Amino acid sequence: MSSRSWLSALPLPHPSWLSSGLPYHSLNFFYRSKFGGKIWKLSLDAGCSCPNRDGTLATLGCLFCDPESFSPSRRLHLPSLRQQLDEGIRRLEQRHAAERFIAYFQPGTNTYGPLDRLEAAYREAIAHPQVVGLAVGTRPDCADDAVLDLLAHLAQKTWVTVEYGLQTIHDRSLDWLRRGHHYDAFLDAYERTRRRNLNVGVHLILGLPGESRDDMLATAREMGRLAIHSVKFHNLYAVRGTTLAEQVAAGLVRLPEFWEYVAEVVDFLEWLPDRVVVERLSGDAPPEYLVAPTWCLDKAAIRQAVVTEFQRRGTRQGSRSV
Ligand code: SF4
Repeated sequence: MSSRSWLSALPLPHPSWLSSGLPYHSLNFFYRSKFGGKIWKLSLDAGCSCPNRDGTLATLGCLFCDPESFSPSRRLHLPSLRQQLDEGIRRLEQRHAAERFIAYFQPGTNTYGPLDRLEAAYREAIAHPQVVGLAVGTRPDCADDAVLDLLAHLAQKTWVTVEYGLQTIHDRSLDWLRRGHHYDAFLDAYERTRRRNLNVGVHLILGLPGESRDDMLATAREMGRLAIHSVKFHNLYAVRGTTLAEQVAAGLVRLPEFWEYVAEVVDFLEWLPDRVVVERLSGDAPPEYLVAPTWCLDKAAIRQAVVTEFQRRGTRQGSRSV
C-alpha cells in the first residue's frame, strides 16, 4: 500500500495535508498551500544578543547553546543585513532553484534590543522583493508589548510568525536547561502574542533527561490546547564548548538513541492536533560543531523512520487528539 493510500484508509477525518503523502502536517505543505509554491526560510542575523548570555539574566546561556552552531547566518559573519539577504538568496537559488523566502531572524533573541534597531532590521528584510514573510525567533521573557505591536503592524502587510524557544512545559527541565524562565513566562507571551493575532511557533526538545514519556505527552497535550501555529522539534544534541557537551563526555547525561527519538516524535505528534504545522522533526549542527549524537546528521533517515513508525502503528498526527 502506498503511503498515501495507507493514510487515506485511516478511520479518521481527512485533513487536506494528507494529500502530501506524509503522516504529519509539514511546513512544506503549509507553505505550498498558503503561497502557491515552495518557500524557503532564510536565516538572518540581526546581531541580537540574549539576556541569558549578556549578563542580564546570566552569562553562560542555556546548557546546550552555541548560537553559531544553530545558525548559518551567524557563522557567515556578514556585516550587513543586505549582504546576508543577497548572499543567502544567491546560495539557495543556486542550490535549490529557490525563488521566494521567509526572512528568519534566527540566532540570539530577536526581539531583544532597541526597538528602532529591531524595526529597521525587520523592515529591511521584508522590503526585499523575494521575501514573502517574517519569522522571528525569541525567548518568551523578551516579548515586550511594544515589539509585539510592531510585529502586529507588520503582519498587516506580510506573513509573520513569532517563534518562541520553549523546549518543555516542565519548570524543573527548564531549570536544568538553564533557560532562565519558567513556563508561566511562555503562557504570558503566548497570550499577548495571540491577542494581536500573530502566529506562534514553538521550539521543543524531546527526550530531555528526567522527563518521562508522560511528562513529554503532557507537553504535547498542552501544545494541543493552545492555538499555536507550528512546532519545531529538536533532539537533545551536544555541540562542542557547551556545558551539555561536558556533561555528555563525563557520562552524566545520556542522549537519546535514534529509535528512541523516532518513537518520541511519533508519540508527540499523535497527540498534536492536525491543524498544527510541523516545521522540523529534528535538529542538528554542522559536523565540525557536533559532539553527539551523529545520527541527527541524517535528517532524511529520521524523516523516513518517522513515516515508517506511523505506518507501523497505523496512526498519523492528531490520531489521539481528535
Ligand atoms: S535563549 Fe537561545 S540564544 Fe539565549 S542562551 Fe538560550 S538558546 Fe542561547
